[in-house]
Amino acid sequence: MKLRSISIVAILAVAVLGSSVQIPARTSRNINPALVARAQQITGDSFPVGISTPRGVNVFARTMPRAEVLNAIDRGFYELFTVAQRRGYRNRLSFGDYTVFIGRADRTKDSSGQYSPDIAVPAQQYAGGYYDQGGFIYAAGMVLAFNPSAFVIAEHDRDLGRISNVVRYEGEHIILYYNDRGLYEKTADHSRGGGHPILK
Ligand SMILES: [Zn+2]
Repeated sequence: MKLRSISIVAILAVAVLGSSVQIPARTSRNINPALVARAQQITGDSFPVGISTPRGVNVFARTMPRAEVLNAIDRGFYELFTVAQRRGYRNRLSFGDYTVFIGRADRTKDSSGQYSPDIAVPAQQYAGGYYDQGGFIYAAGMVLAFNPSAFVIAEHDRDLGRISNVVRYEGEHIILYYNDRGLYEKTADHSRGGGHPILK
């Protein structure tokens, strides 16, 4: 499936965020306040719901995600890990290594009318380019941080296979960052061309 919107990496997110603190929660997971603050800043959303997928991915959302959505996230990581292992990569191949934020979609259709829930993010290196909408671009997903490894996707009410794809595609940037820095550098900035999947 071809994604009509791009996924991007926030270069500034490379900085290692502070250590996580354990808070007593129903889901008993690690929550990193700096990471959540960054996700809120990028999306303008708040993420009161924290939950794990069946395979152990940390998920933050505005409302409780449906089971099908959590399964779609797991499926995307499963496909990513499978192709990464085939290439001999060893780092960041556990579901629990990842945090996914599900933000409000800033649009649900692309310019051709296709269902395409995307988030609007500052244009940065895409300013003035093909994707620029006037200071921002629409992205299917965006890497927020490498350590902890996290990205944001948009809420979907259908076409959940697209969630799996976006998860796989955002995850590619993180997998490459930890396993093939040269290929990461070459593929991180889609304003210079290239898209997903990177790993086949
Ligand atoms: Zn990308």
